[in-house]
Amino acid sequence: MLVNEILELFRNQISQREYEIYIKQLKFNEKLSTDENIVFNAPNEIIAKFITTKYSEKLAYTFEVETGKKPKITISVSSKSRQSKVNQIDIKQIKAQSTSLIPNFTFENFIVGDSNHLAFASCKSVAENPGQMYNPVFIYGSTGLGKTHLLQSVGNYCLNVGKIVICVTAELFVNDFINSIKLNTTERFREKYRNCDILLIDDVQFLGKTDRIQEEFFHTFNELYAKKAQIVMTSDKPPKTLRGFEERLISRFEWGLMVDITPPELDTKIAIIKKKCEFNNINLGDDVISYIATNLGDSIREIEGVITNIRNYAYIMKTEISLEFAKNVLKDHIKEKYENISLERIIEVVANELNVKQSDIKSKTRSKNVVEARRIAIFLAKNLTQNSMPKIANYFEGMKDHSSISKNLKKIRELFETNEVFRLRVDEIKNKITKKV
Ligand code: ADP
Ligand code: MG
Repeated sequence: MLVNEILELFRNQISQREYEIYIKQLKFNEKLSTDENIVFNAPNEIIAKFITTKYSEKLAYTFEVETGKKPKITISVSSKSRQSKVNQIDIKQIKAQSTSLIPNFTFENFIVGDSNHLAFASCKSVAENPGQMYNPVFIYGSTGLGKTHLLQSVGNYCLNVGKIVICVTAELFVNDFINSIKLNTTERFREKYRNCDILLIDDVQFLGKTDRIQEEFFHTFNELYAKKAQIVMTSDKPPKTLRGFEERLISRFEWGLMVDITPPELDTKIAIIKKKCEFNNINLGDDVISYIATNLGDSIREIEGVITNIRNYAYIMKTEISLEFAKNVLKDHIKEKYENISLERIIEVVANELNVKQSDIKSKTRSKNVVEARRIAIFLAKNLTQNSMPKIANYFEGMKDHSSISKNLKKIRELFETNEVFRLRVDEIKNKITKKV
């Protein structure tokens, strides 16, 4: 097959610059390619993903025009570069495990909102008065919401005022203990863990594996507690629902203060994104930030990953980060998330949130509340599903055809421009719809 010739033809269909930056980096993988599936190797995952999202469909089309058959285009990373990526990750993980305190995880860098202010306040007060207020502090919540950040903030704060701090993941605690048994150094292990002012254990759910570890932790806990050393733990669930733990440990976990971190509200999410951008020297417009906040899930870790992705792409493309650009980068990510949203679900949530009947939204009723709810539902149907305008028109009894839909969309855009509160309200409803999918 004349793949290189087809690539040459493709050159005329995109800008010279794009061709030079991306397409030229592709190497045709003759071994793995068939007529139905043309495989190219890209030098790294970022470029592979970018080309897949942005060009694979166009490329397939060029093939179709030239050969009469539309192949699948696969852009994979050559095995050599993948290998080096894996190594990098390994090294990073090992480093993260052995560095117990991360300097950036401080109270100052933590954005406080309704979802986390109790956890923040508890951590701050035990950092200022360790062993005096609540002991232990048990923070729980799902992943990516800032538990490790807060735990580390306690550690950094206390370290700065000269306390002896031990901050470990539960896994590290376990490994440390197992090694000490192997090397016959359990005395040293005990000295280390029982002679600190503050013991911080991250992801304590991983301690529930073996009895021996629990036994050891139980005694560590008791000794520290007796001498008023502060203990702070994090976990993905509250003590009661932890699996594999002895009752006496669970009850110890519940002795002091238990506090949860819940998913951030939109304004907190936006503030966190702004902070991360500032910190990492990334310049994102308010429109991009608001788009990321409303369209991604609650995990700040995931959001951070996406921001870095956008920055990397922009860097490779040497371009400004416009809203269009960000949308393009996030396309795959968001498509996956929205695939399962139905019109029924949209109506259900809108009706619930705005206190109107589901059947009214679908009907021709013209009362003010219902008209507004219907308009929002139409807007969300267009934005969160793949339904065409005629199909959406069909779904709502009062909508004659696609032009009635388009009138509603236009009206809503006007409202967005003039009424910030309304826009935030719609964002909130959108969040509710996408959350449970
Ligand atoms: P968890 O331990 O709950 O899984 P992490 O503490 O590791 O989550 O947080 C994931 C990322 O999100 C970290 O980079 C952290 O700095 C960031 N993050 C989470 N919540 C906040 C917040 N309220 N303010 C600033 N950064 C946050
Ligand atoms: Mg964590």
